[in-house]
Amino acid sequence: MHNGFILYLIIIGNQSSKCPKCKANYFSITKTKEDYLGNDFANPKKHIFRNYYRCRKCNHEWAKDIYRSKNNQHQF
Ligand SMILES: [Zn+2]
Repeated sequence: MHNGFILYLIIIGNQSSKCPKCKANYFSITKTKEDYLGNDFANPKKHIFRNYYRCRKCNHEWAKDIYRSKNNQHQF
């Protein structure tokens, strides 16, 4: 079913936002900044954003690129 698949994606998304250093879970992670990098060359229908995160437990900072479909944005 679609609902189960969406739930699965949410769980995977949360797991990927663990601190890479001390493995703190996403409750300890703050998103500090988001940069817009532009369109994906291989897939022009997608935007690339670079998110910056900081762990409140160990103060480790890192960045992660995420892809967002243009369909998710309101263009009307
Ligand atoms: Zn950490």
